Amino acid sequence: MTSTIFTGIAELVTGDALLEGADHSEHLGRLSDAAVVVQDGLIAWVGPAAEAPAADESQDVGGRAVIPGFVDSHSHLVFAGDRSAEFAARMTGVRYDGGGIATSVRATRAASDDLLRTLVARRVAEMHAQGTTTVEIKSGYGLSVQDEARSLRIAAEFSSETTFLGAHVVPQEFAGRRCEYVDLVTGEMLSACAPHARWIDVFCEPHSAHAFTEDEARVVLCAGRDAGLGLRVHGNQLGHGPGVRLAVELGAASVDHCTFLSADDVERLASAAETTVATLLPGVEFSTRSPYPDARRLIDAGVSIALASDCNPGTCYSSSIPFVLALAVREMRLTPAEALLAATSGGAKSLRRKDIGVICVGNRADLTVLDAPSYLHLFYRAGVPIAGVLDPAGRHGN
Ligand SMILES: [Zn+2]
Repeated sequence: MTSTIFTGIAELVTGDALLEGADHSEHLGRLSDAAVVVQDGLIAWVGPAAEAPAADESQDVGGRAVIPGFVDSHSHLVFAGDRSAEFAARMTGVRYDGGGIATSVRATRAASDDLLRTLVARRVAEMHAQGTTTVEIKSGYGLSVQDEARSLRIAAEFSSETTFLGAHVVPQEFAGRRCEYVDLVTGEMLSACAPHARWIDVFCEPHSAHAFTEDEARVVLCAGRDAGLGLRVHGNQLGHGPGVRLAVELGAASVDHCTFLSADDVERLASAAETTVATLLPGVEFSTRSPYPDARRLIDAGVSIALASDCNPGTCYSSSIPFVLALAVREMRLTPAEALLAATSGGAKSLRRKDIGVICVGNRADLTVLDAPSYLHLFYRAGVPIAGVLDPAGRHGN
């Protein structure tokens, strides 16, 4: 029941549109010389330091900036093996088509539970050390009933935001038998995985021979919905396609990538802005040397966006949200404020969570501290490890 007050916050970015006395330009809900009181893991008070109530313990963050912890709403952390050679080949011009996923499937199936658990723990710790407080974790490198279920069991040890991605690609042993694999994913595999998952996802991509068509993706998503799972879609990554249309039609919480969109797709996403978030993953475009999504077009149309890492062994083996933020501003022309909100409240919205992503009373005390006086330094000092999670027990830093 101990309460802790954090003082010495030079700049507090809350993302709270209702916070009295805050600077609401660019929707940041910003306070200078602020304090935050935390109790039982929740935020109990937010405001100017001069008006702060008493608390049992006090921690001075020394004139640094505090922001909401990053919500990384798209990652694939459960895998073994290494695809650095594939990355190197891409940098010399080899195109990504999803085929390399089979390499990770072989390595993941061969790994012991203990090894997979150790690898996931290491990756989650890496994210935490860079300011991420919530991470969604997908399966998708098992692609058998047993290996998908154990991937999700292990993921669930680290996050409540777990996603069943049995429909990542058609595994090699089902080559020429796509229908049988979709039957497995929507039948026995779904039954084994649903108890460990909150979401179901599908790689809906007609431009990859390994991924799923619109009809197959619809069958997968509807089966997941019938099993009580929320819907997410990998769509419109490699070319124009049906992913966004399907996601909006089925009321998915998020459609991720959104690199190639038609005018109709943008209109659909704008009209579904309260339901379906467009999650942009610019680390993938960086790591595959591909064109970035047109984020300005989406924002100008009124689409809800999120930014996430897509940390995975093939197309983006970076767990760094600060890196993603730097790309979003430099390469996709978001303002620093738009980028920060997309990786905090935007990520929370894509996970349909109201208790994270914004610093306000009653929310989880997920706070990230920057070794800098302003959130702008996240972009201004790109590549410098200034972000870390503020530990309610008082330890803070990177
Ligand atoms: Zn992904």
